[in-house]
Amino acid sequence: MTAFHADIADEFIKTGDLSDEKLRQLIETEECDDILIKAADKVRRRVYGDEVYLRGLIEFTSYCRNNCYYCGIRRDNRKAQRYRLSEEEILLCCKEGYSLGYRTFVLQGGEDMYYSDKMICRIVSSVKEKYPDCAVTLSIGERSEESYRAYFEAGADRYLLRHETADEKHYRMLHPEEMSLSSRKKCLFTLKSIGYQVGSGFMVGSPYQTTENLISDLRFLQELDPDMIGIGTYITHKDTPFSDKENGSLSLAVRLIAILRIMFPHALIPATTALGTIHPEGREMALKAGANVVMPNLSPVRVREKYSLYDNKICTGEESAQCRKCLEKRIESAGYRAVTHIGNVKRLP
Ligand code: SAH
Repeated sequence: MTAFHADIADEFIKTGDLSDEKLRQLIETEECDDILIKAADKVRRRVYGDEVYLRGLIEFTSYCRNNCYYCGIRRDNRKAQRYRLSEEEILLCCKEGYSLGYRTFVLQGGEDMYYSDKMICRIVSSVKEKYPDCAVTLSIGERSEESYRAYFEAGADRYLLRHETADEKHYRMLHPEEMSLSSRKKCLFTLKSIGYQVGSGFMVGSPYQTTENLISDLRFLQELDPDMIGIGTYITHKDTPFSDKENGSLSLAVRLIAILRIMFPHALIPATTALGTIHPEGREMALKAGANVVMPNLSPVRVREKYSLYDNKICTGEESAQCRKCLEKRIESAGYRAVTHIGNVKRLP
């Protein structure tokens, strides 16, 4: 490693921040990966020990009103297979998840207005009533402040809404005219002010992304100061306008996880399904670089293939209990321990 890069890595590890120019150097070189990953693991062990939190993920609808160019369940994809889970089905997933030890349920879906505020509130409050020792996380896109408040009052604890890219021009290249980065950002601040534990994040290697865009993502996260940060590689879906684009790079994503862990020592950072899809050991690599959450799939097996955000998504054929075992083994092989408590963020006192 050049002394130049060693100095930059050193400064970053010591202070948790760098100038834009130095961040660019750090993001663009592989030279520092070993020391960054080691330092990130040290930080995660100091804050979270060897614990990895489990979140049962229920992908409850594949309908979406949005038309993001990268996403397989975008509105205009006529080939997408659409499904909706009923309230009963969602509760059955939670029942199974609870028996597998999960104490967080993440309800994720396309932006599907079939689920009115009333329905979402009813679903959230039923889950909380049956499983008061569990957290409910929503990930259902952009809704009004009034709606977000209603879900919170119904008992929702956390909300995941990736900003996708914090750069205005890049955002425009990934989304149609009717969507806007400013509304997405506004939603995130609203969610935070309501009292949710908030998660944001971005895709690594999405089409047209530059290092400057990634720096903007890190700066935006510093401004938002979220509890959870989810990143994964962009993966092409064959029935989208981006079908000819290349997948994002795993090593860049792993490097960014290490950078995030060092910048945000307390953040909950998942080893995402996209990373497991792009490489058989992608999630293990993420865990070793500072990720401390995994989100096993709890959706009914018959719908899993249909929640097709990108090609070749993994974990579509296995029953939830098998997913649980498989992930536990992966976590152990990486040197950590799956735990079944609620797994709240550890904030600085
Ligand atoms: N409708 C919800 C949930 C979106 S799906 C919302 O708007 O938040 C969850 C995440 O999958 C997205 O935030 C996006 O970052 C990711 N995603 C979508 N398409 C993808 C692709 N082709 N490759 C990798 N990740 C993708």
